Amino acid sequence: MILLVLACAGDPPAARAVTPAPAPVPPVAATLVAPEPGPDPAASTAVVFVGDAGKGGAGQKAVADAVKAWCAARRCDFVAYLGDNLYPAGATSPDDPIFRDRFEVYWEGFDVPFYVALGNHDHMGDPQAELDYAKTSRLWRMPARWYRFEQGIAEFLVLDTGPSPDGGKVAGEQLAWLQGELARPAAPWRVAYGHHPIHSSGLHGASPALITGLEPIFRDGGVDLWLCGHDHHLEVLDDGVAPLEVISGGGSAARKVKPPVAGSVYLAPSLGFGYLVLEPGVAHLAMVEVEVGGGAKLAWRSELRK
Ligand SMILES: [Zn+2]
Repeated sequence: MILLVLACAGDPPAARAVTPAPAPVPPVAATLVAPEPGPDPAASTAVVFVGDAGKGGAGQKAVADAVKAWCAARRCDFVAYLGDNLYPAGATSPDDPIFRDRFEVYWEGFDVPFYVALGNHDHMGDPQAELDYAKTSRLWRMPARWYRFEQGIAEFLVLDTGPSPDGGKVAGEQLAWLQGELARPAAPWRVAYGHHPIHSSGLHGASPALITGLEPIFRDGGVDLWLCGHDHHLEVLDDGVAPLEVISGGGSAARKVKPPVAGSVYLAPSLGFGYLVLEPGVAHLAMVEVEVGGGAKLAWRSELRK
């Protein structure tokens, strides 16, 4: 069972005792404090997660600069890169200049590795190009189209949810692999990530094939969180049953959203990224909204306990 405790910059201030001369109440946003992992990467896990970050331009630069600043101030073990890494149509080879134009120029001077998932726009090119690029890249890690790795006290299952713009799907050989991995004893935190949302208040919306074909498997397999993108906004969805879903698709462009669907507890049509600190028994989740020319704002923070 997972308990979500949350705080948002938009929440009203807590009730205060009446005083004869009340002092100005500071904005609630000022009370949000970023999670701070300890110094030992073996004792906890600290992850930035962002998707749809490959459009280039001012939006991508603003988010990349905000991530760099965030990770200069606190530990980041890796970046979970949630697909649609190279707009508009992926790469044709590992030497394709799009890797420079849509990735490298934004991450100069950054030394945190990226563990990369494929999105539908990556499938418009040759996905093998992104795997081959990983063999020589300073930052890009992608050992397979879908894969598992461990970091600190957590395990990560990276999925390829496929080429469709209309919703994700996990089937066949990949589904059999996933079920095999989930049958193994879980690490203290079991996190899965990929490109398409299961549920979403965004313009693309939910993925019916993931609702029926993936969510029950995650639930039975002890997956605590599903991190995804595809819809270009930030959202946290909690239906009271694992996994908690977090959409972080504001990596280079922001889009409007629809009214919040059931379970949506934080929703912002914003550029930005997510930050997750996993410790024994508690996970700290923070959502950072970014504006071009306007800096970064910690807009949401919550804790999961289990
Ligand atoms: Zn997409």
